[in-house]
Amino acid sequence: MKRLPGKIRFWLSVFLILGVAIPAAPAGSPEPADLYRQAYDHFRRAERDLQGGEPAAAVAGFRSALEAWESLRADSPDWNPAAVEIRIKQADPRLREAEARLADREAWSNPLRIHFIDVGQGDSTLVQCPDGSTILIDGGPMDAYPQLVGYLKEAGVEKIDLLIATHPDGDHIGGLLKVLETFPIVTVVDSGKEHTTLTYQRYMEAVKGLPDTGFKLGRAGDRYVFGGVDLLIIHPGANLPSNNNDSSIVARLTYGDVGFLFTGDAEEKAEAEMLSRGLPVRSSVLKVGHHGSKSSTSTRFLSAVSPQSAVISCGESNRWGHPTQEVMRSLKQRKIEIYRTDLQGTILMLSDGKEIRLEFPGKAVYPEYPVPEESARMVIANRVSLIYYPPESPYRSRVPPEDRVSFKTGAEAEAAGYFKSWH
Ligand SMILES: [Zn+2]
Repeated sequence: MKRLPGKIRFWLSVFLILGVAIPAAPAGSPEPADLYRQAYDHFRRAERDLQGGEPAAAVAGFRSALEAWESLRADSPDWNPAAVEIRIKQADPRLREAEARLADREAWSNPLRIHFIDVGQGDSTLVQCPDGSTILIDGGPMDAYPQLVGYLKEAGVEKIDLLIATHPDGDHIGGLLKVLETFPIVTVVDSGKEHTTLTYQRYMEAVKGLPDTGFKLGRAGDRYVFGGVDLLIIHPGANLPSNNNDSSIVARLTYGDVGFLFTGDAEEKAEAEMLSRGLPVRSSVLKVGHHGSKSSTSTRFLSAVSPQSAVISCGESNRWGHPTQEVMRSLKQRKIEIYRTDLQGTILMLSDGKEIRLEFPGKAVYPEYPVPEESARMVIANRVSLIYYPPESPYRSRVPPEDRVSFKTGAEAEAAGYFKSWH
């Protein structure tokens, strides 16, 4: 007779010895064979749940199967130990797979959301943290405010925890005038750079007029840790540059393994300053400085940031020629993925802290409102933008009713401090 293989002989002897030595299970508790079969049912159902995209149910199923087989191994080691061992070895990696898929689903159920909002020629970025906290970096130009405020409401924003005004130029703070009167704001972080424009004066007055809002200067080294993200300000330093653009607050936001660098309109000089400061700049995504102007995104800076993707926020056929060929070439040479608000509209990036997924919610939509009969022959003005539109202007219908002021003539509107629309 052929000798049995060693392993089988071993288990056979274990079975015989223990089978004799251990008394049968006490009456009332399930037979090992039933336990084994029940566990196998759990296992099979868990496999189906995992295939069917129900990782939570699969985790529960694999756990009960494993627990049953493990207790079988401990309590009835004489009952078919080889089969029990094989099942345990089979179920263990399946449970880990189901747990990994469940963790992945949970991370994606509340991802970090970064919206590079289409505000035409300007910048405005909304950050929604995994816990729902909100950061808004800039508010685009004044005439984009109806669309910006509409977008923020649509995205579910009810309050803004951190409002960063990178620098005092109109294409970054214009739209903030309406944001400041629409949403409660916990803290405003400002560069402290002053400007001579009426827009800047009105923005500062609005900020100072908010009794419950904190006001802080943004300086390199300041850190804001909340909502699962870490935001580090890397520019400007203690001494503000004389140039508005170079005074831009530059912030690096990290979530898990991914990083985003928001550069405002910082130009080459500011970029060199940042590099010499030594704070980290390396990021997965770069919001390209100054709308893709050639005065920003120097080779050295781009190499240090080393992004996989770049976002350019600029208006369709803008008169500045943004983005410039120089910057586009530089990004393409490094095989950086380029996204542009002028071509793709709003760019939404979602992240679980490991990878980034993209969505394109569409181009800016400017709501239109009916103009009442009695205003048909009148001049319609917007009290937020201080712009007035003569009866023939097609843009009159974009003035939200709550911001609408009517005058008999353009001269009357001008006397009240309004400016004629250039459209
Ligand atoms: Zn700008």
